[in-house]
Amino acid sequence: MDCQNAEGLVDRYIAKTLDTQTMAEFLEHIESCPSCYQELETSFMVTAAMQHLSDEEDTDLDFRRLLEQDLKRARYHIILSQVLRFLRICLYLLLAAGLTQVILMLIVEVNKLL
Ligand SMILES: [Zn+2]
Repeated sequence: MDCQNAEGLVDRYIAKTLDTQTMAEFLEHIESCPSCYQELETSFMVTAAMQHLSDEEDTDLDFRRLLEQDLKRARYHIILSQVLRFLRICLYLLLAAGLTQVILMLIVEVNKLL
């Protein structure tokens, strides 16, 4: 992902509308590109400040820490979805192995009958 792509995704990251794959690529770029990280930090702070103004309750004003927490949550979400994808693949493999076994048993039984 290049800077132009990453900058175009900042608002969608903040609005949490990125799919997992795009978010993973976005985070990878953000972590290695200080300029785009700065862009994200600025947009995040503006959004958080506006939310703070409209919120009645006293929210946390440490925007830098809030962004770090948000990025940590995003990374956790990516890892979780990778683990789930891996487990899904394992499940498919188990099902395929089970089906193969059933088919082999059927073939053996049919051969016994013939
Ligand atoms: Zn960049």
